[in-house]
Amino acid sequence: MIEKYIRDVPDFPKPGIVFKDITPLLQNPECLKASIDGLAQAVDPASYDLICGIESRGFIFGTALARQLGKGFIPVRKPGKLPWKTASESYELEYGTDTIEIHVDACEGRRVLVVDDLLATGGTMEAALKLIRKVGGEPVAAAVVIELGFLPGREKVAPVPVHSLLRVD
Ligand code: 5GP
Repeated sequence: MIEKYIRDVPDFPKPGIVFKDITPLLQNPECLKASIDGLAQAVDPASYDLICGIESRGFIFGTALARQLGKGFIPVRKPGKLPWKTASESYELEYGTDTIEIHVDACEGRRVLVVDDLLATGGTMEAALKLIRKVGGEPVAAAVVIELGFLPGREKVAPVPVHSLLRVD
């Protein structure tokens, strides 16, 4: 069902990239519900305590899922956005590096499910998993709406399992 609500946008944000736009999916009430229900069923909610969302589309799915399951939500954000003490992790991009941050008291001693809209190379997700470990949490699984199956994101994130609602090859 969700596949036809994901729009391919050529040359965004740069020439040569075909961006998977999830805004049609968010706009459609049945599709939005199906995505949150799908994520809720993908991983046993008894296996984790908190849901971590990666800025910014991971916030949309992560908070909706947390609300649906009665879990708490923790944000992983771009540098300089979180107001309290933070831990940082940098990761490689095609050209250069990027950094994400988490509050140091976000998830100590807690089991965490990490949610994002899309898994591509896995660099962002791997950095989020490292951040959770850095601040004393245990990342138990990753859940995404879309997985680009032609990239080795899943292998990068292993041994943490990745659950995706739609695999695009
Ligand atoms: P990765 O680090 O796995 O290469 O890239 C995944 C991250 O970049 C996710 O946070 C995701 O939101 C964003 N991203 C990369 N490509 C796309 C895309 O085509 N569509 C969307 N919606 N997000 C993307």
